[in-house]
Amino acid sequence: MYEVTLRRREPVAERTLAFYFDKPAGFSHDAGQNVMLSLIEPPAMDAAGPSRPFTLASAPHEPELMIATRMRDSSFKRHLGSVPLGTRLEMDGPAGLLVLHEDVSRPAVFLAGGIGITPFLAMARDAEKRKLPHRIVLFYSNRRPRDAAFLAELERLQGDRFRLVTTMTDAPEWRGERRRISRELLAEHLPDLRSPIYYFAGPPGMTMAVQGMLSELGIAEDDMRSEEFYGY
Ligand SMILES: Cc1cc2nc3c(=O)[nH]c(=O)nc-3n(C[C@H](O)[C@H](O)[C@H](O)COP(=O)(O)OP(=O)(O)OC[C@H]3O[C@@H](n4cnc5c(N)ncnc54)[C@H](O)[C@@H]3O)c2cc1C
Repeated sequence: MYEVTLRRREPVAERTLAFYFDKPAGFSHDAGQNVMLSLIEPPAMDAAGPSRPFTLASAPHEPELMIATRMRDSSFKRHLGSVPLGTRLEMDGPAGLLVLHEDVSRPAVFLAGGIGITPFLAMARDAEKRKLPHRIVLFYSNRRPRDAAFLAELERLQGDRFRLVTTMTDAPEWRGERRRISRELLAEHLPDLRSPIYYFAGPPGMTMAVQGMLSELGIAEDDMRSEEFYGY
C-alpha cells in the first residue's frame, strides 16, 4: 500500500480527465498493469464506495503516475475531480496480467474500446522507449473523435513496428474507418489472424463482444488477454 499525491488534472477527451500523481519511492510496474486507488477520509459515498481500480496509463520509465477516466456522476469521481491538488490518496498495487508477451516472433494486436485505451497507451509508450522489437497493431474504437483520448499521441507513435487503426462508429463526418471492430476489419489489416496474441480492454459490452468474435475466429484462450472496465 502506498500513498500518492495528486499533482494535476488535464482534459484528454470530452468528459475525460487524466490525473497525475507523484510516483512513490520504491514503486515500479509493468506497462498495462493497474492499481486500486482509494480516497482517504472521503465524504459520504454512494454504494460503490471509496475505491476504484485504474490502469496506469503512464509508462514505467515516466517520473509520474497517470490514470485517465471518463468523468461520470459517481461520488468517487465527483470527489476525485474536485479535491485540491496536493490531496493524498491510497494506492494498492500494481496488479494485472495485461502485459506484453515475450515471444517477439508473435505480433501483438491491441483492441481498445474508448477509455480502454489506457493499458495500450502505457504499452505503446513503453515499446517506443525500450525500442521493443514486437510488431503491434492497435485498433482504437470510439464513437466520435472528441471521445478518443490520446489519439494525436498515438498517431505520432506510429512507425515500422507500431500501426494504428482508428475507427469512429458514430461520426458521419469522419472520413476514415467507421465500422466497429469486427472480423472483417481485423482481416483487412492483419495478414494472418491466427499468429497474433490479442489484448483487449474496454467497457463490459465491448470486451464480451470481442471475446466472442475472437473465439469464433478460433483464437485460443491462451492467446487472448483482457481487462474488463466494469462500472461502464
Ligand atoms: C483492472 C481494471 C482497470 C480499470 N482501468 C480503468 C481505466 O484505466 N480508466 C477508467 O476510466 N476505468 C477503469 N476501470 C473501471 C473503473 O474502475 C470504474 O469502474 C469505472 O471508471 C466506473 O466508475 P464510476 O465511479 O463511474 O462508476 P461506479 O459508481 O463505480 O459504478 C460501478 C458499478 O459497477 C459495479 N461494480 C462494482 N464493483 C464491481 C465488480 N467487481 N464487478 C462488477 N461490477 C462491479 C457497481 O455495483 C456499480 O454499479 C478499470 C477497471 C478494472 C477492473
